[in-house]
Amino acid sequence: MKKHNFYAGPSILSQYTIKNTADAVLDFAGTGLSLLEISHRSKEFSAVMDEARALVKELLDVPAGYDVVYLGGGASLQFCMVPYNLLKKKAAYLETGTWAVNAIKEAKLFGEVDVVASSKDANFTFIPKGYTVPDDADYFHITTNNTIFGTEMRYDPDVKVPLVADMSSDIFSRPIDVSKYDIIYAGAQKNLAPAGVTIAIVREDALGKVERAIPTMLDYRTHIKKGSMFNTPPCLPVFAALQTLRYYKELGGVKVLEKMNLEKAAILYDEIDRNKLFRGTVVPEDRSIMNVCFVMNDEYKELEEEFAQFASSKGMVGIKGHRSVGGFRASLYNAMPKSSVEALIATMQEFEKNH
Ligand SMILES: *Cc1c(COP(=O)(O)O)cnc(C)c1O
Repeated sequence: MKKHNFYAGPSILSQYTIKNTADAVLDFAGTGLSLLEISHRSKEFSAVMDEARALVKELLDVPAGYDVVYLGGGASLQFCMVPYNLLKKKAAYLETGTWAVNAIKEAKLFGEVDVVASSKDANFTFIPKGYTVPDDADYFHITTNNTIFGTEMRYDPDVKVPLVADMSSDIFSRPIDVSKYDIIYAGAQKNLAPAGVTIAIVREDALGKVERAIPTMLDYRTHIKKGSMFNTPPCLPVFAALQTLRYYKELGGVKVLEKMNLEKAAILYDEIDRNKLFRGTVVPEDRSIMNVCFVMNDEYKELEEEFAQFASSKGMVGIKGHRSVGGFRASLYNAMPKSSVEALIATMQEFEKNH
């Protein structure tokens, strides 16, 4: 039976990425050696890293003065690297979900943190608006897509202070104005590659302003200077990321991906709104096009487990909601074909007919 992969992360990758990576595990770039056993200093792998950095710049239209680095440690390490490198006295954060909470916790180790607004009291079902970012903040940190709760800021906010964004679960899902940001970071395992690598897009002149000593590995300048080859990079995830980036380019870039993502999300939200059994969990204007969260309507609550099993019998994988929201979450990352979303919708309709 065909499986439809709705996992939130690690999550669906294009067949192009998976096939080319599998091939390279057997024979990398005609070397007769596996991608798993080649030196990262080999000319073949250096070419992979160079192209992987260049394609991020090309796809996101990264202006001059910015560098793209591939780092280890996951997005969670960025929660500490950002304040380590940027926080002098005070930073502002928007609290929109679990990942934002985790980022705030780390920033507090380095200075004062002003949480300018939070939707915590409403279990993060909306993105706060109308907040004020203090002019004296060293930076303002946002989480553009809240993977667990299914809300998204699908715009680049205008603020007077440097902007930093965790885009782990929506990078490459739409065009962004990189010039508005000092740092953008994203763990690879939602829209790019298997787990093990994180990309950061860093404005060079944002660095070098803090007084504190920064450990070598946690200093962005180390990785910029060495082209992400200061130490051994995670070669396989970087190779897979390159395949995904090539695939995105072939499709026509992030504008085309955005259009596809909007279509996929719209048909699923329409079904959730139409179907008498289900309802969405977040306010409509902040709905994420990457992670669609929904629950059973109150009068059908007891059918939740039955729907989970029914969906599973139809090949749906990974639609169980995060424990902090409950219900269901369908993650519709870039690699998700519209046909899988249609299959999920058909499953919801069939289940509705049966009840
Ligand atoms: C998954 C996720 C993270 C955590 O990523 P790790 O690579 O596991 O540290 C952080 N932020 C967001 C928005 C995420 O979706």
